[in-house]
Amino acid sequence: MTTTGRRRVLGQHFLRDASAARAIADLARLTRDDLCVEIGPGEGALTFLLSDRAGRLLALEVDEALIAELRPRLRSLSHVEVRCADARRFDYSTLPALKPSPEGRVVVVGNLPYSVSKPILERLVESRGAISEMVLTLQKEVAERIAAGPGSKRYGSLSVLTQLYCDVRLAATIPPGAFRPPPKVDSAVVHLRVLAAPRVRVRDEGGFRRVVKAAFGQRRKTLANALAGGLHSSVATARQRLAAVGIEPARRAETLSLEEFSRLSEVFS
Ligand code: SAM
Repeated sequence: MTTTGRRRVLGQHFLRDASAARAIADLARLTRDDLCVEIGPGEGALTFLLSDRAGRLLALEVDEALIAELRPRLRSLSHVEVRCADARRFDYSTLPALKPSPEGRVVVVGNLPYSVSKPILERLVESRGAISEMVLTLQKEVAERIAAGPGSKRYGSLSVLTQLYCDVRLAATIPPGAFRPPPKVDSAVVHLRVLAAPRVRVRDEGGFRRVVKAAFGQRRKTLANALAGGLHSSVATARQRLAAVGIEPARRAETLSLEEFSRLSEVFS
């Protein structure tokens, strides 16, 4: 693959704005007790700033050519490791054992490749037991979907399934000119803090996920129709179950709070 092709496939828009890079690194509030995991170090725009702040830094990168350039530049830093790994499949459960101190946190920081930011986020949320906080730079539209609340047109399964497990804050917007080459759209930084327990009661996590995906699967339809279609039940059954938990069947998924999704999953999963 040509360098240009590789850059496009791997979402390689490198941070060139030093003050944006510093702001991202500062958001993580790293200490010497913390293990920082950087996703996609690329040419190292964030890596050196993070290595100054964290007790230990593990950087996960898929592009071997970039790794070959970055490793020699980090050789003198014994607390830094660049590992060739795909962040969508990495085993994050191994991380707590790598913390420099038991009091420290595991903090994930990354200017994520746009093309795979959603699967990486899903994998991180799935691995939340091993992670305290995340500071992720993504396409602004995706960041807004993660942070959106009920009633917003951006509110969807990504919002519900992230907010179930994390506090979410949109921390900053970054314009295309801060990157080389500039992407076509704005970026934003989201700060996620993993909650000690899910925000609402969830008895069956797989069932909750299926109900949320079905509810948002056909956003324009009423809840009764969307759930019947997505979960293969009759519309009459869907209406009955919605009524049983006090949710009006004619509502749309985007109006439901997390607590209402919790009630829904009790009767549908
Ligand atoms: N952190 C650097 C910066 O801010 O300049 C690079 C950010 S660039 C948007 C995304 C980086 O993630 C690239 O270095 C790319 O090679 C890497 N990458 C792409 N897919 C990846 C994956 N699945 N796992 C780990 N790294 C990945």
